Amino acid sequence: MPISPPDIRRYNGQALITLVYDDGFKNSFENALPLHVEFNTQAGFAVIASRMQTPSHWDRYMEPWQVAEAARQGVEICSHSYSHPRLTEVDDETLNAELTRSQDILNETIAGSGKKVTTFCVPFSNSDERVIAAAEKYYATVRIKGRKFTPLHPKDDRVVYSFGLTKDTTFSEVKDIIDKAVAEKAWVTLMLHGVVPKPIPNQREFDIDTGLLKQILGYIKSIGPDTLLPINLSDIHEIRERAQASKPSSRARGNFPAPGLG
Ligand SMILES: [Zn+2]
Repeated sequence: MPISPPDIRRYNGQALITLVYDDGFKNSFENALPLHVEFNTQAGFAVIASRMQTPSHWDRYMEPWQVAEAARQGVEICSHSYSHPRLTEVDDETLNAELTRSQDILNETIAGSGKKVTTFCVPFSNSDERVIAAAEKYYATVRIKGRKFTPLHPKDDRVVYSFGLTKDTTFSEVKDIIDKAVAEKAWVTLMLHGVVPKPIPNQREFDIDTGLLKQILGYIKSIGPDTLLPINLSDIHEIRERAQASKPSSRARGNFPAPGLG
């Protein structure tokens, strides 16, 4: 059974959470996807298109069929560029090619799912104004790293921030972030990479173990969608519309002069 699409109609101002796995590692498909299906909780895979396309990378990175299958299972496929360069250091032509080529390839890969790639996750979170402006030409959502919650008012900020997990991250650290988001009714985005079962012989800096992921997903489930709604990065636009629509008074204030000023 695929992951059910997030029930955006359930959004009533509660906290939101998003989990995105960067780089398109094979173990995200093998170890994270089954848990997201089991817990019926949204996930995003930020895929480096060139590695997905290159058979010599398939020992570590997802193959096209796995990216397609993940999309069919309800995972949001995001672009993580074509070749994962430091985008602030490339020229405009390369920057554009990194943005568009990856999007074209991934759109073709997931064509069977009926979905489109509308989110860009910046490699190394290495961005500046030029990179963000270029990404926004092709993508509705641009995600960087930044240990803070993303404002729901679209004019407050253009990018999505995310909390990166590393091999040293503990459950209680993640729980604290989630609890804070719940208390503030904020949107928290977690940036993950590889997911590997314990014991991990050569755990990479950004790998977490399946036990921690299970704890996180179990905790999200225990809080429940009426208090903490899991969404994909691409869902934020609909959420923002709902957030604005539910505040008719602020819109009215914009249309009419405030008392005493007329
Ligand atoms: Zn990356």
